[in-house]
Amino acid sequence: MHCPFCTAKETKVIDSRLVGSGHQVRRRRECILCHERFTTFEGAELVMPRVIKQDGSREPFNEDKLQNGLHRALEKRPVSTEQIEEVVHQIKSQLRATGEREVPSQLVGECIMEALKKLDKVAYVRFASVYRCFEDVKEFGEEIARLGDE
Ligand SMILES: [Zn+2]
Repeated sequence: MHCPFCTAKETKVIDSRLVGSGHQVRRRRECILCHERFTTFEGAELVMPRVIKQDGSREPFNEDKLQNGLHRALEKRPVSTEQIEEVVHQIKSQLRATGEREVPSQLVGECIMEALKKLDKVAYVRFASVYRCFEDVKEFGEEIARLGDE
């Protein structure tokens, strides 16, 4: 790949290691011309099912959207970027494992809630309160009470 600083064509890899529990390779590269260093991440690109929205329209699976949702729910929570990446990977695997070419957006939401439930209870409640639009306060209270029991 070209150097992002001077666009030279030759860069060399100075370090390479597995990250994200082994489904990504992180490479430190150095430009042969300007000697600037930068990092690249390499991972397999697998086809994701498309998402069927509530109104019946379809859209491509959007990983940024998933990440943003998680980051919002996990704001100021003691959860590392690495852990969030792991959750993103898990959810994508789960969706691919359905073997479907299209999945309802509710399923994506359920996967996120399941993952957050295990990762961080506060983030789970935050996400669930927005996502599920709890019918009334009682239902929301019950959900929190259930978490307390677990
Ligand atoms: Zn360069």
